[in-house]
Amino acid sequence: MVYRIRTKYCKQCGIEFSERMPESRVFCSVSCRQTFRNDPVRNPSKSPEARRKISESRKGKPTTLGRPCSEKTKKKISKSLIGTSTGRRPTQKAIDAFVKGGEKNLLRASGSEHHMWKGGHSKERQARYKDPEYIEWRTKCLERDSYTCQKCGVRNGMGETIILQVHHKIHYWERPALRYDLDNGTSLCIGCHRKAHKGMKKPKNPRSD
Ligand SMILES: [Zn+2]
Ligand SMILES: [Zn+2]
Ligand SMILES: [Zn+2]
Repeated sequence: MVYRIRTKYCKQCGIEFSERMPESRVFCSVSCRQTFRNDPVRNPSKSPEARRKISESRKGKPTTLGRPCSEKTKKKISKSLIGTSTGRRPTQKAIDAFVKGGEKNLLRASGSEHHMWKGGHSKERQARYKDPEYIEWRTKCLERDSYTCQKCGVRNGMGETIILQVHHKIHYWERPALRYDLDNGTSLCIGCHRKAHKGMKKPKNPRSD
């Protein structure tokens, strides 16, 4: 599922809502979704009449809730749940994997920053991305920014992998001293990073302070 900031009109109440959500979402809220689903015209089995009938037929019968089930049934249920999501909150394990993945994604992304560089420095660049000082700077910036693009707010998680890059607000060819300054780094998604570099040109005679 791709979570992106989208603007939509609720299928139930028609209100305009805008937030990070998957393409498939059509309601502004849980209550609108419920109202829509329980519409007796659309869904006759949910009409008050039908509900009453169902509840009547169940009277006196035990519910499955709270009733212990056999080991066999438990195994069956657990097997059927393997690989399915159990909720919207990621587990700690998933978060750890994501944090680690963020680092890996970055290394992967770093080689494809074609928009910023024209020719020639790939060896030097590769060396830079392996520089522990650079990695530490980048990781600290990403952690501080909660792995979220500081421009558009897009972030990893919910099944989507967003590649984030750490951008030098003042480029190091202008101020080499600020190269690993945490305040000079900001996490950006590839799209925002590209925009940030639009029109930025490496000067012929870089300063060397
Ligand atoms: Zn609504
Ligand atoms: Zn962005
Ligand atoms: Zn940048």
